[in-house]
Amino acid sequence: MTTDGNALFAAHAYLPQGWRRDVLLEWNDEGMLTAVTPDSPVPPGVARANGPLMPGMPNLHSHAFQRAMAGLAEYRAQAGDNFWSWRDLMYRLAARITPAALEAIARWLYIEMLKAGYTSVCEFHYVHHALDGSRYEQVAELGQRVVDAASQAGIGMTMLPVLYEYSGFGKREPRPDQRRFINTPQSLLELLLTLRRARPEHGALAYGVAPHSLRAVSQPSLHALLDGLDAQLPGAPVHIHIAEQTGEVDECLAATGARPVAWLLDHFNVDARWCLVHATHVDDAEAAALAASGAVAGLCPTTEANLGDGIFPAQRYLDAGGLIGVGSDSHIAVDWRSELRLLEYGQRLALRQRNVLASATRPQVAERLVDAALAGGARASGRAIGALQAGRRADWLVLDPAHPSLDGRRPNDWLAAVVFCEHGDAPIAEVHTGGRCVVREGRHRDEAPAYAAYREAVAGLQA
Ligand code: ZN
Repeated sequence: MTTDGNALFAAHAYLPQGWRRDVLLEWNDEGMLTAVTPDSPVPPGVARANGPLMPGMPNLHSHAFQRAMAGLAEYRAQAGDNFWSWRDLMYRLAARITPAALEAIARWLYIEMLKAGYTSVCEFHYVHHALDGSRYEQVAELGQRVVDAASQAGIGMTMLPVLYEYSGFGKREPRPDQRRFINTPQSLLELLLTLRRARPEHGALAYGVAPHSLRAVSQPSLHALLDGLDAQLPGAPVHIHIAEQTGEVDECLAATGARPVAWLLDHFNVDARWCLVHATHVDDAEAAALAASGAVAGLCPTTEANLGDGIFPAQRYLDAGGLIGVGSDSHIAVDWRSELRLLEYGQRLALRQRNVLASATRPQVAERLVDAALAGGARASGRAIGALQAGRRADWLVLDPAHPSLDGRRPNDWLAAVVFCEHGDAPIAEVHTGGRCVVREGRHRDEAPAYAAYREAVAGLQA
């Protein structure tokens, strides 16, 4: 029996096999679960959870600095406002951000994520260089700030430095407002190595790379990047933006004769280490091939809705065995419940049906989507997370059983209430990462100073 305090008894916990009663969780000093035992007697001296437990949700796609512009692009600047006009505003922000501002924004954002029940984040990090495009003296300065923000907040991280080389298909020269993003495969791999030396991997921190998109990276560069990554970190995650916009599909067709997802699957060994972010515009053959590849489709429904991207064919893809996870991407919303709800609602609105993403074997939509996002998010993170079972990270949420959305409901209806009911605050009372409580009674331990620093950073950017 555990005597060192690394144990918790929960009357109800959501395990890989569903809701189970009288669950004893035990974990080690590194924050990894060592045993998860349902139908356990109440052990003497072990703390009791204040509500039902479920695994923390992985956030598989984030650009931390974009949190500072959430809500600033919601007016019509010109007829036919679209993704590309939003991107111009985002670039103006990226051009001004300082290391201290980035750290403050990221720390506050990660606190918001934790409060919403995200316990890990894949950071698709592409602002690398100084304001004028020159290298920082410490070449990985900005990446290090983001990693530090995550560890201060207490969220797990997969840091993915981004390779951005070109402004468009056919090796188009980068634009001046992209100067802070630009690297060669070699300089990006050196940046990754520098960052890993300064902030080595541990139980809450992993690394991978992110070729930005097919428009920003050439085929030889992508090969060089993957070869270099395998020399440093064999099998580490690879994330790429793909087929988010129909304009990008058209450009890819014109440049290569193939649609983006089809082209990538044809030219690279896309497997379980890959996360294809968005993949919104896939035809039937692409959806089937992507599902069969073992890669994760990284869906960001609130951002995709906000930017007018389109609707991912989730029903066909899930039914073909495809893996998904969710990300908050631009951070117009920081709430995995909103991502899953909108994922389902987009399908309902398009198909004029209900409970579209349920299946014959998984009739409850919320459970199917939560399970999918936990498993896909864990795979995309390249970390042992996403389930309450031995060998995984001790990351969980304590639900508030007295919340009006949950109160009086049976355990089998809890996840549906958590995902679909919108009545006031989220029904999440506590959040634990690596076995430590970082959010209690809905408040993060560093909330006040982190918010003050965030506010000052954003004010400085708008000045
Ligand atoms: Zn993105």
